[in-house]
Amino acid sequence: MTQRLTLGALEVSGLTDLARFDIPLSEIMPGADPAALDGIDWIGPEVLSDGILHMAMRAWLLRLEGRVILIDTCVGDDKDRPARPEWHRRRSGALIAALAAEGLRPDDVDVVMCTHLHADHVGWNTVREDGRWVPTFPGARYVCGRTEYRHWDGAADAHGAFADSVLPVMAAGRMDLVEDGWELARGLTLETTPGHTPGHMCIHADHGAGAVFAGDAIHSPVQLARPDWVSAFCSDAEAARASRLRLLEELADSGRWLIPAHFPDPGWMRVARAGRAFRPAA
Ligand SMILES: [Zn+2]
Repeated sequence: MTQRLTLGALEVSGLTDLARFDIPLSEIMPGADPAALDGIDWIGPEVLSDGILHMAMRAWLLRLEGRVILIDTCVGDDKDRPARPEWHRRRSGALIAALAAEGLRPDDVDVVMCTHLHADHVGWNTVREDGRWVPTFPGARYVCGRTEYRHWDGAADAHGAFADSVLPVMAAGRMDLVEDGWELARGLTLETTPGHTPGHMCIHADHGAGAVFAGDAIHSPVQLARPDWVSAFCSDAEAARASRLRLLEELADSGRWLIPAHFPDPGWMRVARAGRAFRPAA
């Protein structure tokens, strides 16, 4: 049973593509010493065990005033990702099944927001049809920050996601490139939070208690305790730290929800200050 978060008129639920993606802490955050977390009792084995960080691959489904919005589309099916066996040529149907469990079909989706253009955030943007990549959500406008799109357009891309999951959407005329401050829908505002990628964007939700859909501005709850730990996949470590600190400072003790892409179930939490760092709010 999917959990649901209600924020005023906004209904949020997670669509799981990969329930668990395990990666050694030393691989995703080189130099991070697990001993630095000793004595921090709120970090449970669902977050980190035996040096392995446990993450989820989740798209966020937002329902607002009859509109259906997806934030990020995870890993996808059929994509050539030889560098990541768990992602390579999957035949899961996972995101479509998760959508169906919410009573929705791909044509019901009105907006697909890409926080950034990494392979684990754009995979379900497209599906293979008669040997071609076509938009999975044929009635949707796909939205991406202009800076982010420009960065990847022509740049080296480790997994080839730009070519199979982004360009076909642009070629189909379904993609809008937008600027900082753009409103995705009423009370859903984009903010550029560079560092993980050059044009990474968070989505601020001003509904109910409020929330920030944070994409990969923070990867794991361990970064509440150690906001300075940077992932190996971040393009600019200093900027990534600064964006994360700004986000956590803003959310701390505010009652607003932090909703990143990869946190363990349910995928959201409130944040409290803990000395010079942070922890989940009780
Ligand atoms: Zn990611």
